[in-house]
Amino acid sequence: SPAIVWFRGDLRLSDNEALAAACSHASLIPVYIRETSCSARPLGAARQWWLHHSLARLASDLENRGTPLVLLTGKPAELIPQLVKATGASTVYWNRRYDPAFSDADAALKAELQSDELVAESFPGQLLHEPTRLRTGSGTYYKVYSPFWRAIESGIENRPPLDAPESLKAFPGISRLESENLEDWGLLPTKPDWSGGLRETWTPGEAGARQRLADFLEDRLKGYSERRDIPGVDATSGLSPHLANGEISPAQIIEAMRDADTSASSDDRTTFRKEVGWREFSWHLLVNQPELAKKNHNSKFDDFPWLNDDEALVAWQKGQTGYPIVDAGMRQLWQTGWMHNRIRMVVASFLTKHLMIDWRKGEEWFWDTLVDADAASNAASWQWVAGSGADAAPYFRIFNPVLQGEKFDPQGDYVRRFVPELEKMPAKFIHKPWSAPDKVLKTAGVSLGDTYPTPIVDHKRARERALDAYKQIKDAA
Ligand code: FAD
Repeated sequence: SPAIVWFRGDLRLSDNEALAAACSHASLIPVYIRETSCSARPLGAARQWWLHHSLARLASDLENRGTPLVLLTGKPAELIPQLVKATGASTVYWNRRYDPAFSDADAALKAELQSDELVAESFPGQLLHEPTRLRTGSGTYYKVYSPFWRAIESGIENRPPLDAPESLKAFPGISRLESENLEDWGLLPTKPDWSGGLRETWTPGEAGARQRLADFLEDRLKGYSERRDIPGVDATSGLSPHLANGEISPAQIIEAMRDADTSASSDDRTTFRKEVGWREFSWHLLVNQPELAKKNHNSKFDDFPWLNDDEALVAWQKGQTGYPIVDAGMRQLWQTGWMHNRIRMVVASFLTKHLMIDWRKGEEWFWDTLVDADAASNAASWQWVAGSGADAAPYFRIFNPVLQGEKFDPQGDYVRRFVPELEKMPAKFIHKPWSAPDKVLKTAGVSLGDTYPTPIVDHKRARERALDAYKQIKDAA
């Protein structure tokens, strides 16, 4: 009898255990459901754009191997039984999702579906470890990265990735099943269409993900540990949106890195593995702290005197703060849906400390604009930078945006790329145009307050203000 494969957070054919299991049946029915009943946070606009293209690729990859993809909208608890009834399927397979907003509903659904006639079976999802099972010696979850990584590292190669099935046996009546049209789902922006920069930067889909991995291993793994902090060069993998959409699995990345014939040092390899490990850690935190995107881990921060400054928030969102490294990052995000990790830390520190705006407002903006927006990594990273998280950078670590720029973007390549109005500024002043002599500004065609903003806050004063505010909650505790 046929098997239903419910695609969810894993929009790929290779290393897909649910799909592999369904292949042992006489035929299969691949389905993707646009869920209307779910309590999980709706995807942001950039991820919706990605999802559209990713689903289109998945549908065509399935079609090429023998079966169409069925697209439905509604409640899985109603749609799956309907599909079972219409097809006589005996089994439903899916890969797990670890966002607690999904996993509770999935567990309930699984119990509900299970019957004498129907088996519902789930497989490990988009992680190298099962985050629900991992416990420290004292029985709690890990709140610090290093011991967490030590606990899982030796086991991460235990699950060798699966190849994609060569052909798929479509359920004979599949063309008679109702399926919606992806174009009608409204996932793409209409007017204005802001997705031009995304289209230029990314190739959503499994093939795009594999190509990106291959290019990274060939060209960029070597030197990764040193160059990964330099935003002006293309030195990191750019795999995050593919991972967020399940177009490639972390196990595939780890295996490909192990097998890659490159002259990358063991430092490069270890550093990269550990970054992939940070993603695992974030998920471990979210599974154990379902409110990670909403509640301060450190409740002392509940009394932090955040400022309600909408004007400053908009200046930050639009990359108009007058601090070039911050503005370059925020504009990279807007144009491409992605931002370099070092600069994510700088802009997050700037929002929460220089502007004293609640990290949740930054987290929300990232959620809407990042193509790699990830419920766990985004929330955990924001809390980490804000100082309110489990394994957090201390609040008093306040990045100086000028020094960060000078250190990591010494020639100003990154700033020039995303803040073209400063293109002609000499490197010496590019991270602090306000300190350039008039003559230099004039030659560079920069008129502060006119072609480029003056800083919206003074670094030194903002730093003191933030430290005073922190002292209030610290002393109160
Ligand atoms: P690479 O350097 O090539 O790293 C490989 C992979 O390791 C990444 O694809 C990612 O899956 C993982 N990784 C690397 N660094 C981190 C990290 N610090 N935390 C967790 N995983 C990591 N990452 C997301 O995937 N989604 C988010 O929504 C997200 N929000 C962030 C918000 C803030 C404020 C900060 C400081 C970081 C955030 N990150 C997020 C982490 C990190 O910036 C991105 O994963 C990384 O920049 C992705 O680029 P890459 O794929 O080229 O990374």
